[in-house]
Amino acid sequence: MTIIGIDLGTTNSAVSVWKDGKSQLIPNALGDVLTPSVVGLDDNGDILVGRIARERLLTHPLLTTSAFKRHMGTPREIRLGDRRFRAEELSALVLRALKADAENMLGETITEAIISVPAYFNDTQRKATRMAGELAGLKVERLLNEPTAAAIAYGLHQQKPETQFLVFDLGGGTFDVSILELFDGVMEVKAVAGDNYLGGEDFTDAIVDDYLASFGLTVSMMERKTLASLREQAEQGKRELTRHKPFKLSAVVSGELKEREVSRERFEALVQPLVDRLRRPIERALLDASIENDQIDEIVMVGGASRMPVVYGMLSRMFGRLPAAHIDPDETVAVGAGVQAGMKERNEALQDIVMTDVCPYTLGTEVAMAYATGEYESGHFSPIIDRNTFVPVSRVKRFSTMNEEQKRIVVKIYQGENRLAANNLLLGELEVEFPPETSGIRDIDIRYTYDINGILEVEVKAVGLEDVHRIVIEENPGIMSREEIERRLTQLSALKMHPREQEHNRLLLARGDRMYEERLGDEREWIGLAMQRFEAALHRQDEQEIREEAERLEQFLNQLEGSRH
Ligand code: AMP
Repeated sequence: MTIIGIDLGTTNSAVSVWKDGKSQLIPNALGDVLTPSVVGLDDNGDILVGRIARERLLTHPLLTTSAFKRHMGTPREIRLGDRRFRAEELSALVLRALKADAENMLGETITEAIISVPAYFNDTQRKATRMAGELAGLKVERLLNEPTAAAIAYGLHQQKPETQFLVFDLGGGTFDVSILELFDGVMEVKAVAGDNYLGGEDFTDAIVDDYLASFGLTVSMMERKTLASLREQAEQGKRELTRHKPFKLSAVVSGELKEREVSRERFEALVQPLVDRLRRPIERALLDASIENDQIDEIVMVGGASRMPVVYGMLSRMFGRLPAAHIDPDETVAVGAGVQAGMKERNEALQDIVMTDVCPYTLGTEVAMAYATGEYESGHFSPIIDRNTFVPVSRVKRFSTMNEEQKRIVVKIYQGENRLAANNLLLGELEVEFPPETSGIRDIDIRYTYDINGILEVEVKAVGLEDVHRIVIEENPGIMSREEIERRLTQLSALKMHPREQEHNRLLLARGDRMYEERLGDEREWIGLAMQRFEAALHRQDEQEIREEAERLEQFLNQLEGSRH
């Protein structure tokens, strides 16, 4: 029985299999090993997944969605046209596409998978990932922590019995660092830290900002199209710099050509503040794991932005050793999942655990805030237990009623990091009534106690009164019931996936549509004509002609976009 390994990522996903003694990535119908985690509906209501859907993000924003991994395990529903999907279902559609690619290459039906998840995923998000698998017709043999997957891609699980690793994962918009320990054949994630608002995109932005500043320009003075072009040049240039080549940024602003060269030295000076920000989570993770820099035996690089020499250099200096980076950092996690799948097939899977002794999210309650004018604004989130606090933990915070006549309060219990309660996850609520014969502003003590099993107990007590009100929250509301899974399974199986054979042509059409929207003037007209020609060939259904015209159109679009694809 073949088991596949899947990296179900926020921006891209990939699937691999253990074959001929190694973990091999499986290409999709377009020949790519990375499939964008983007899902959409086409005009017939059929499902589109991957690059075609990504092309349509701009042209069909109401029918396309991305980055839904962030909502796994929450009851939130995402609208596509007149349908609504949970993040689990959207992930299931990505998984279904990957499963189909694997079946196509392997020539057999695949029913089992190992899926990787971020080390910081809580129990609800992990259960949600398993459900996504189930909805895609895959039994999830096990979930594998992403940093562990990266480590085993490098074979680190076969090292001496007691070793410690650091996994450095810098993607487009997020940064994660994990400290792993291999001990007695078990890989344990000892500490995780990171920054959800720091990634490769910020390095690109720094280049654009510097260009504007050097000509005394600001973002608001620029046309959207010029800014988009500068951003694209900076993105390409950043990649050139990785290959040690300086590059130029140029744009016509108010009829004048403004050009500026960016050397490697210039770039490195520009992004120094960002590099410094990368250092802090690393230090925090080391501290949390009680490990010194020189006790790290290996550093593993993950994520596209970890390719930048400036990042590589910072890590080398910090640890006095070179990071391991010979596997493509976008593919490392999927390769590791494939290794684990192979081990599972041989019944020798590595055990992999996360530290369970911190509470992963902030827990708090909803409050109204008083302004100097005496007015109140409700809906604010007031944290009681901060995320990453060691458990078990018990914290009490004092609140007060809003007016003298208030006879009851409703304590709403939320989990999350947003300052507005409604943007966090409502776990439960507790209503407390005060004796009717009393009045006055009251002090209320709210105590949250969180134990090692993830059970939260909330106690509410009005100061001076005897009664203590209590609620225990065990069930996570983000988890779907059995009946709901069955219902969604039926709905999903009724959805048609787009036939594989047409993928390439559909991608070309979607890309052409996107470029037509982006460009103006002559370029727009040329694109329109080229598209018409291709559509006419599709209409005539002559395979040879379609192939030739597809190639022609693709070359033309590549030329316009500077061979970006
Ligand atoms: P990805 O991991 O492909 O989602 O890419 C995430 C980030 O990595 C993006 O911000 C890219 O700009 C960046 N990136 C990808 N390749 C390179 C490269 N060769 N040099 C510098 N940054 C890169």
